[in-house]
Amino acid sequence: MPVYFLYQEGHGPDRIKIGRARRVEERRRQLQTGNPDRLKLVGFINADDDARLERDLHRHFAEVRGEFGEWFNLQPADVLPVLQRFHGDAFVGKTADAFEIVGYDRDGIPEHVGVWEWGDLSLEECCPFCGCLGGLHFQEASWMYHCLACDTLTNFEDDTRTAPEP
Ligand SMILES: [Zn+2]
Repeated sequence: MPVYFLYQEGHGPDRIKIGRARRVEERRRQLQTGNPDRLKLVGFINADDDARLERDLHRHFAEVRGEFGEWFNLQPADVLPVLQRFHGDAFVGKTADAFEIVGYDRDGIPEHVGVWEWGDLSLEECCPFCGCLGGLHFQEASWMYHCLACDTLTNFEDDTRTAPEP
């Protein structure tokens, strides 16, 4: 099951919970209930041995462990290198409005909201459709970009930029 990273920002110091859940979004909503601070999904890793991965991560970040169980004094940027190590098995929590056009550059090329709230990730680093850190692969034969995780195939020329349900 996935090992997730949930970011809490609000009144106290920012912190990140590292835990395991079969349904990450469901767990986020549970934890959000009654919590005055916003909880946001930084990302998650699909692991075969999730208990072990969670234990390793708790150990890895032991020095910044907070006083409450699975909470760590971390920022999303601290977690990104860990997620990136897992490539195609890791996903970022996507911004809801990825692909929303926020402006145009000098050449009239539209600029979009990034896929991840806390940093810029290129198409090769992260699939903007599903958030997979395996990224998009350019296929010479078809001149299209392909994601192995969600199987999106696109040349970004049409505007049907909706990803299939994972
Ligand atoms: Zn994808």
